[in-house]
Amino acid sequence: MPYVNDIEANRVLCTHCQKLHDVSAVRCDRCGGHLHQRRPYALLLSWGFVLSGLVFLVPANLLPMMVVKSIAGDDAGTIMDGVIHFLHTGAYGIAFVIFAASVFVPFFKVSVMLYLLLIIHFRWRARIMGGLKLYRLIHFIGKWSMLDIFVVALMVGLVQFRELATIVTGPAAMAFALAVVMTMVATEVFDPRLLFDMQQRSRT
Ligand SMILES: [Zn+2]
Repeated sequence: MPYVNDIEANRVLCTHCQKLHDVSAVRCDRCGGHLHQRRPYALLLSWGFVLSGLVFLVPANLLPMMVVKSIAGDDAGTIMDGVIHFLHTGAYGIAFVIFAASVFVPFFKVSVMLYLLLIIHFRWRARIMGGLKLYRLIHFIGKWSMLDIFVVALMVGLVQFRELATIVTGPAAMAFALAVVMTMVATEVFDPRLLFDMQQRSRT
């Protein structure tokens, strides 16, 4: 379906109050907001934050998430150790929640963001709509990113009630938190309109 976008119409929309301006305007004359046809440095910042998120996911999964200190000695466990522990004890629900929140969702989000950036980079026009659906999906599950914090709190509670042990968080906890934040920022700085700019250019 033919349509005209803001760039072709030489207009710029204020993303704060939705007032439409001529492309030459720098600031919104209604609310004073800065005007940009696309978020500045959207691609550069998205690449930066996605790759940082990916880098932090490695220690988050390989280093110990929790260290259980008891009379028997220290016992350090990674995220996957936790999943396996709950699978062995028959707590399949908890094992599933930890795996989904700590392993599957973060890797899925980073993969989708990388896929979207590659669509733009290599101009894979046929994949735009599929990519946009995935972007909406990760935006939707983004609300549940902090679920993992509750899971860790739950595990700490379980272990401390059962045994005379103390738990300290391992180095993976900081890496995991950074990975979650980097991925969240990456989805925020990304501008999905960039996908459709490529479609406009392909038409002319
Ligand atoms: Zn405005």
